[in-house]
Amino acid sequence: MFYTRLMPTPLPAPYLVATSAPAAQLIGLPADLSDSLDILIGNAVPERAQPLAAVYSGHQFGVWAGQLGDGRAILFGDVATSAGPMELQWKGAGLTPYSRMGDGRAVLRSSIREFLCSEAMHALGIPTSRALSVAGSDQGVVRETVETSAVVVRMAPSFVRFGSFEHWYYRKQTDQLKVLADYVIDRFYPDLRQAGNPYAALLEEVTRRTAHMIAHWQAVGFMHGVMNTDNMSILGLTLDYGPFGFMEAFDANHICNHTDQQGRYSYANQPQVGHWNCYALAQALLPLIGEVEPTQAALDVYQPEFAAKIDELLHAKLGLTMLEDQFDTDRALFDDLFAILPGVDFTLFFRRLSGVRAADASGDEALRDLFIDRAAFDAWAERYRTRLRAENSEDARRTVAMNQTNPKYVLRNYLAQVAIEKAQNKDFSEVERLLAVLQRPFDEQPEHEHYAALPPDWASHLEVSCSS
Ligand code: AMP
Ligand code: MG
Repeated sequence: MFYTRLMPTPLPAPYLVATSAPAAQLIGLPADLSDSLDILIGNAVPERAQPLAAVYSGHQFGVWAGQLGDGRAILFGDVATSAGPMELQWKGAGLTPYSRMGDGRAVLRSSIREFLCSEAMHALGIPTSRALSVAGSDQGVVRETVETSAVVVRMAPSFVRFGSFEHWYYRKQTDQLKVLADYVIDRFYPDLRQAGNPYAALLEEVTRRTAHMIAHWQAVGFMHGVMNTDNMSILGLTLDYGPFGFMEAFDANHICNHTDQQGRYSYANQPQVGHWNCYALAQALLPLIGEVEPTQAALDVYQPEFAAKIDELLHAKLGLTMLEDQFDTDRALFDDLFAILPGVDFTLFFRRLSGVRAADASGDEALRDLFIDRAAFDAWAERYRTRLRAENSEDARRTVAMNQTNPKYVLRNYLAQVAIEKAQNKDFSEVERLLAVLQRPFDEQPEHEHYAALPPDWASHLEVSCSS
């Protein structure tokens, strides 16, 4: 069986914390969902819905973990939208047959983080699952301390994971593996039916999408934190937000997940881990593909696809419109930038970069102020200016374009923390405000300037772990 039908477990005295109007609109719902609270928390089930929890397996931190599955997610809807079908899940709505040692619940803290980040990533133009709502209940759940429960309603065309395929591969149930692959191809990749080997074509397309997704993460400084194969979407969507983080003071080896002591999922490691995960998927699809050679060929698209996408994104971040083939020195310009970037706030750097002028250093000041080693910055900035002049870059036009690419507002951990602490005291206004800011990450929002500021000193003690 691919899933088990079951009902969510009710929570006492629920309250609505926040909803996303654009997410609601996408599935044809009004912005105000307060009438639907019972459904949003899983105390009522929509008419005709037959909720289910799906089984999957996976590699966790590089080690085969066996069966996992939806331990606290329950699928309850499938809505046709202008962007294709959208499935709806409760996350945190109670025990399932796959809960293992867990309680089937999610805490308010991690639910607010998933809710905000899903919608923030979407607004950044990065492929992701969406979040419709977060609702809470004062029912206690035990983590490091006792916290309160919450349920996120999240949406994606599919929640099928790499681990869904690994599950049947490791059980040697090739018939089930084929049912799953055929379902995914027919529903989400119908064009691949024309390919000589549709399963190899599926692997290639998922590999490509994964490479692109991770290039987007690197370009915006997003770190997922738990890139286990059970958290890797077969549609190339950012999925299962846990101890994620956005890069602040740049450190290529930054580890956002306190539980990840080896740094397997550090910023610098994300691209190669994405490739490793595609290998795990390839292994699982091998019985369907039939031969090693086309399997390897499908995997081999990862490196060039990642390289081409990150190259494209970095050009855009620097406001450069002519690409690599015209300027073979661009790679060195990018590498040398990352060599001087350590310690500098990632988001502020790229945002302020749009103020640099091609002719002279008169626009450098705000950017230069971010650096301790000003001489190193000046040297790089001169090379950058030379490069801008080589393509006759116009300052005004480039500034506009760069500000559409380099966000002003990202979900810094401390911003989430402030909203969470207020919400824990039943003041949900900050979640709402922060969501509104993050839904327009590229816009100047003068009234919200402080949301773009460097983290305060207390934020350096913040730690996020797998506990959620
Ligand atoms: P994650 O790394 O958070 O995506 O979770 C890994 C696995 O643990 C998945 O199968 C989850 O469903 C399961 N899981 C995590 N937390 C809980 C919980 N509180 N109750 C039940 N299952 C959980
Ligand atoms: Mg997961």
